[in-house]
Amino acid sequence: MSDQPYIVSARKYRPATFSSVVGQRNLAETLRNAVSTGRVAQAYLFCGPRGVGKTSCARIFAKALNCTNPTTDGEACGECASCRAVDLGNSFNLLELDAASNNSVNDIRDIMDQVNVPPQDGRYRVFIIDEVHMLSTQAFNAFLKTLEEPPKNVVFILATTEKHKILPTILSRCQVYDFKRITVDDIVEHLKYVASREGISADERALGVIAQKADGAMRDALSIFDQVAASCMGNITYDGTIANLNVLDHECYFGLTEAFGAGDVAAALLIYNGVRDKGFDSLFFLNGLASHIRNLMVAADPRTIGLLEVSRSLAQRYVAQASSFPAQWYYRTLDILNECEVNYRMAANKQLAVELALMKTSMLRQNSESVAETPVPPSSTTPTPTPPRPSAPASVARPAVSAQPVVPSSRPRTPRAATPRLSAPGLTTIRLSGEDKKDKKEEGDRNVDDSHPDNGNPLTKDVPVSDERLAEAWQQFIASHPEQKIVITTMRTTMPSRSGDGEYSLSVANAGQKAQFDAIMPELLEFIRSRIGNRNFTLRVGLQEVDSSHRRLTQREFLTKVVTDNPVLSELLTYLDASFV
Ligand SMILES: [Zn+2]
Repeated sequence: MSDQPYIVSARKYRPATFSSVVGQRNLAETLRNAVSTGRVAQAYLFCGPRGVGKTSCARIFAKALNCTNPTTDGEACGECASCRAVDLGNSFNLLELDAASNNSVNDIRDIMDQVNVPPQDGRYRVFIIDEVHMLSTQAFNAFLKTLEEPPKNVVFILATTEKHKILPTILSRCQVYDFKRITVDDIVEHLKYVASREGISADERALGVIAQKADGAMRDALSIFDQVAASCMGNITYDGTIANLNVLDHECYFGLTEAFGAGDVAAALLIYNGVRDKGFDSLFFLNGLASHIRNLMVAADPRTIGLLEVSRSLAQRYVAQASSFPAQWYYRTLDILNECEVNYRMAANKQLAVELALMKTSMLRQNSESVAETPVPPSSTTPTPTPPRPSAPASVARPAVSAQPVVPSSRPRTPRAATPRLSAPGLTTIRLSGEDKKDKKEEGDRNVDDSHPDNGNPLTKDVPVSDERLAEAWQQFIASHPEQKIVITTMRTTMPSRSGDGEYSLSVANAGQKAQFDAIMPELLEFIRSRIGNRNFTLRVGLQEVDSSHRRLTQREFLTKVVTDNPVLSELLTYLDASFV
């Protein structure tokens, strides 16, 4: 290594030209054009998260504006007296104020006194005010006076991470530039460049981990890079990076998802156990798993694939794994994980809470696949109907599984999942890795499974629909769909009435409400069917008879009408989480 003093990478590789700015191409282009065409505004506002290059761009812009020999495309030459003065930090034409630490009215007055001094041998005096939202109100007002009538040849560049705190009077006087978070790919590319310049070998997957940890901020990425490079002794490996940054290996989540797909409960539990052995917090693990599932979900649809914020190589793996699951699976899995996270803090046995969520998720796929893809076998496995139970014990976990066939995935099934073992009637097939354990466990499983008839087992006969169970499912849907304001407001005030075997109907007051119901009907049916354990439950929504207004309304109907006729009232009820009935 050289005997040069050590300079942190974030400083050493701070961009010095527009073309070396990472991840803000369009914006840098516009600024460069301003320099080359000479169309320079008097005030600029650079907004965006920390570490994305706002101050760097401001300095590059200031330097280019004063360069005596700029290139034709608007870059500073880097060699003239002005450029050198800016590089050395002693340019008379560039003044910087960090409003985070100098936010008093006197600080700003000092700066404003300078405003009237004409530029020395350059063309512009540039004032960069960083974290401008931190200025005190008085300081802001003092500054505003200058901004209203700035002297010629003065350019203000204001930077802020909190655009919403900037007064409209300031905003309206500035050309506003919104800096984006830098993408993982752009960060990885830049880190590769830095690594090569520093003579450090780096695994691209490791750089991907660093980039993700940096969350869109190049400055953070470079700091993390330095930290990892130091601990890895100049050879940045994936394992070394994972260990150093204390992040969970992606492999763990990919492996877990594979176990879910195969219905392999044991494998899922073992992976979780391994995570705990490494000392990771369970909540951290749950969060990571939920983001993994979320990533798979957006990777599954070409329209949302752009929402993946991972490196290109990792994105390909997401796409590959995503194709193995139907869309419904993602919603249900996220639902289970979310529920687990919500209840986590209250859980007396946190490990069990997480394990339960993993079991439920492992069983999801198998249940839905066996419904969709296993023909119901003849007599030998004809199930004994499970008697309806008015109230299943609330404490027993209820897998959020629908008995509805789920559209089978297009991917060829794995051999394991393709041949689900048919278990005794009334049993959910839980695959343990040692199949011999299975038989020993069956007695115990039966006891558990019999206690919740709504487990969605394909081989169990439908549970007859009872008004009680329907009412329960109805309330659960209301509670779990607060975003469906109009529908749940109507649902709160009315209940479907039985019109046949498993057939129910509901009358709503107007076409708007009906349309809202129609829109969520597949989801609503799915939800209710799974909760009540009846695949044939149907619900028809019709409009109330026109002349129904002439007859005397029951009290409930009257209140329903009042609520539905008054959207404000209905919103108020939703807001208060209240209802009349
Ligand atoms: Zn120059």
